[in-house]
Amino acid sequence: MSKPIVAVVGRPNVGKSTFFNKVVGRRVAIVEDTPGVTRDRIYAEAEWNGVHFALIDTGGIEPDSKDIILSQMREQAEVAIGTADVILFMVDGKDGLTAADREVAMMLMRTGKKVILVVNKVDKPTVPDDFYDFYELGLGEPIPISAANMLNLGDLLDEIVQSFPPGAGTEEEDQIKIAVIGKPNVGKSSLINELLGEKRVIVSPIAGTTRDSIDTPFEQDGEKYLLIDTAGIRRKSKVNEDIERFSVIRAVAAVERCDVCLLMIDAAEGITEQDKKIAGVAHEAGKGIVIVVNKWDLVEKDSNTMKHFRQEIAKELTFMSYAPSIFISVLEKQRIQKVLQTAKAVAENRAMRISTGQLNSLITDATMMKQPPSDKGKRLKIYYVTQVGVKPPLFSFKINSRELMHFSYARYLENKIREGFGFEGTSIKFVFREKG
Ligand code: GDP
Ligand code: GDP
Repeated sequence: MSKPIVAVVGRPNVGKSTFFNKVVGRRVAIVEDTPGVTRDRIYAEAEWNGVHFALIDTGGIEPDSKDIILSQMREQAEVAIGTADVILFMVDGKDGLTAADREVAMMLMRTGKKVILVVNKVDKPTVPDDFYDFYELGLGEPIPISAANMLNLGDLLDEIVQSFPPGAGTEEEDQIKIAVIGKPNVGKSSLINELLGEKRVIVSPIAGTTRDSIDTPFEQDGEKYLLIDTAGIRRKSKVNEDIERFSVIRAVAAVERCDVCLLMIDAAEGITEQDKKIAGVAHEAGKGIVIVVNKWDLVEKDSNTMKHFRQEIAKELTFMSYAPSIFISVLEKQRIQKVLQTAKAVAENRAMRISTGQLNSLITDATMMKQPPSDKGKRLKIYYVTQVGVKPPLFSFKINSRELMHFSYARYLENKIREGFGFEGTSIKFVFREKG
């Protein structure tokens, strides 16, 4: 089972971000350092007593009218219901119980998902008198916390971790988990239906969950796959930014649980800002990526069209130059099988291990071909390199000085490793340690 997901739902200003930041201990942006991509913090990994989980802050933009607060909360709740294993419903202990809280509580209750009711801003050891009103929500015992003062957070985290399904956080190794992501209308549902075809073995949500995103296991050519479908959950919102933001949040949740993302792009529209944001999510998460350009039938083609489209991808999605792109038409059933073949290859690359011997002889050659940078007479020395992790591949470099490891030289080494060993479709990460 993959890492459990906890979604935080609640009105603006109840303290969701404060809580989020205290629990993860630092400000985390899902897509930091990725050019052209949102700076919002939505998703972070958290850990409590050795249990790892993902925390999603569903909080949106500040609304300016009561109606929008409500519709936005509904939307938040839907995202949470669709993606989370546990929902943390946060209310404000200073404001007391509000109508919006009641409405959202009703929605959350109907889903049958585990909901933890948290009353924030209880800054003193004794709870205020109107604290007991929160029992009316029917969500069980409210847990008082003070996010700002970090009071009672331990008890809350205990409660969260205890509510995970048994075995949550342990990997199921023999299955390639694929998420189909992309903006609305790009063809996600169509592709999923086409891939599954008659192979669809389980069409209902996995027992015990009410995920709107349906996980469908299937087999092809002896290989086991799991398709994570978030395409089905979609709802028109009054506020445009909401649609965009929520489609990014949904992508985040799907991405978290997968090995390989199929990032779908609409051939007729080219690469848009929203595509870049969604791409950034997959890249930052270190997942395998296949860029799937769909609706190729709509494009008027000559012999250079594909080449030009590839150039546009390289220009617009510079941060994922490692991702292969394929051009398909679900409508005309063109190259659909290529999608799975490529996803499988990428999943294998992401899990690939290179021996220390091979790695060091490649790096030695690389440093001979291009001298490492130097500064004030001191030259970068690489003593040795080992691969310390997979999914994504992680390489540890023992060096004399971190300051001398310039970004451009690191990129040169990355390119050499890619040339030597492949790794198409996966980001690879480096850590540099100074010899002590
Ligand atoms: P969000 O909109 O739900 O993400 O709420 P924020 O985290 O931005 O918090 C809204 C306001 O409530 C900020 O001014 C916080 O400083 C304040 N706040 C958050 N947690 C607490 C708390 O435990 N006690 C008190 N008194 N104020 C808090
Ligand atoms: P989703 O919102 O990403 O799940 O997109 P859908 O699968 O619902 O598809 C949106 C629309 O695009 C539908 O009208 C599909 O029939 C259409 N569509 C999907 N794939 C193709 C394709 O390869 N070519 C063309 N021309 N239309 C397509």
